[in-house]
Amino acid sequence: AEDGEGVLASHFHALMMFTKVDKSRSLQDKFKVAMLSMMMHADFLDDEVLVLHFVSDPGSQKLGEKILQEFLKDATFKYEVLFHDELALTHKLFPIVEAMQKHFSAGSGAYYSDAIFFLSVAMHLIMPENITRIVQLDLDLKYKTNIRDLFLEFQHFPPEAVIGITREMQPVYRHTFWQFRKENPQTKVGEPPPNGLPGVNSGVMLLDLGAMRNSVLYNQLLQPNNVAKLAEQYRFRGHLGDQDFFSMIGMEHPQLFYPLACGWNRQLCTWWRDHGYTDVFHMYYHCEGPVYIYHGNCNTPIPND
Ligand code: UDP
Ligand code: MN
Repeated sequence: AEDGEGVLASHFHALMMFTKVDKSRSLQDKFKVAMLSMMMHADFLDDEVLVLHFVSDPGSQKLGEKILQEFLKDATFKYEVLFHDELALTHKLFPIVEAMQKHFSAGSGAYYSDAIFFLSVAMHLIMPENITRIVQLDLDLKYKTNIRDLFLEFQHFPPEAVIGITREMQPVYRHTFWQFRKENPQTKVGEPPPNGLPGVNSGVMLLDLGAMRNSVLYNQLLQPNNVAKLAEQYRFRGHLGDQDFFSMIGMEHPQLFYPLACGWNRQLCTWWRDHGYTDVFHMYYHCEGPVYIYHGNCNTPIPND
């Protein structure tokens, strides 16, 4: 396979956050569903390698290695498994994302350990230069199709796009941007699809690291003064980490994002339906077309179809 630059792109990089998994039976079950369904549908060409990256702690890594050994043993294609130490990555990440944490983190947002929730935002500065594309995936997913097809979506990025991502399927940003919406009654910010700007969900993300490195605009938006300016402009205060950052900069610069079809991250959580948004919920939750990946977010069970 050739990428845009004509360089042999035989490695398909996928990254998952994999921390405190040894402490949580629920996370272990989600991980097994994700890996089993991924491997059941995955298929690659002879010269291709699926590289699975896990950001982990020692306890979770030990458990992960054991489970993966069993789940990968019948793979019909080449693969590699790489564990990244959460603490080592946090050490690199913290100086880059420290200033944005107060806008998009729970609590005071000053915690060093919270920096890891912003890994995707600075992935282009953290990963080695030879990795030019990576897909970041949650553990609470169930794959209905070949994961290779997700990587093919990189080919559809328009010139200015740096990240491919699916819209958020609950009215969470209708809620978060309430003050801005009150002051700007005609705004599309927080409005439902197809014409509104409902924000994005970070469960499935295509990070074009090459494009992220080359985009002057994207790197300007990472600067603390520019983050503060936008947060002020939109009266934004969130707690969902990278997803909040991407949703906010997407309101101002939608051209940075390639909108992945809703079926690539079919979120199932319905929490906001029962918390003040019953009347509008369906407009956000609606997703037409085939489901490629289910996302059982907020611990929602995934259907057995
Ligand atoms: N995660 C993790 N350890 C934890 C909690 C979360 O590694 O203790 C990772 C895992 O990859 C998970 C992702 O963080 O899928 C996001 O959390 P979750 O999917 O629970 O959030 P939701 O999608 O429900 O908002
Ligand atoms: Mn999730």
